[in-house]
Amino acid sequence: MHHDATARLRHYLLSPPDWLKSSAIVDLVHLLSGIRPVIRTEIQSQYRENDVRRWVSRLGCYCCFDDDAFTVISRTPILCRRVLTIDRDPMEHTKALGCALGYPSCCVRAAARIGEENIDDWATEIGSKLYLGRFKVIDPSGYLQGKSAVSHVPCSPRCQRSLAMAVQALHGPFGYCLHEELHRRLASGIRL
Ligand SMILES: [Zn+2]
Repeated sequence: MHHDATARLRHYLLSPPDWLKSSAIVDLVHLLSGIRPVIRTEIQSQYRENDVRRWVSRLGCYCCFDDDAFTVISRTPILCRRVLTIDRDPMEHTKALGCALGYPSCCVRAAARIGEENIDDWATEIGSKLYLGRFKVIDPSGYLQGKSAVSHVPCSPRCQRSLAMAVQALHGPFGYCLHEELHRRLASGIRL
């Protein structure tokens, strides 16, 4: 990517609009760095679809909306629609949704075993475990404050594929936009 284009995108991520949750920044970093093809995030305040669309288009992306104030964002419109379709499916779709959103297959399998209705309790349980060294960057307990470098619940506090995803995000062109605490955790954990 051209240097100026990267700088411009960084600027958008560093001054996000009110409707974007802090936790959405990590999703957008994954998307813009090419780590994941499509993301899904909840919009947190009153918004107009056109304002969201306009901001997302500045990132070179498209978005779709569902009825629960979630938006799905991707560079490819068909991927947005696919995620909405999966999400609307009344059948069990945890695995299909996790795969489509580009989460590691080990974590997707774990989430499917737990089931969508228990996922919040499971996130609390996984978040209460001890994360050693560099694995602190995948601790989901800081997710809402933007202090996790992944946006899924890792299958374990030592999930290598989640760590690889987190490191890729932190070292990539938009790593600078992630919470500074994450960079400290990664740096301080290197020797462990
Ligand atoms: Zn995993």
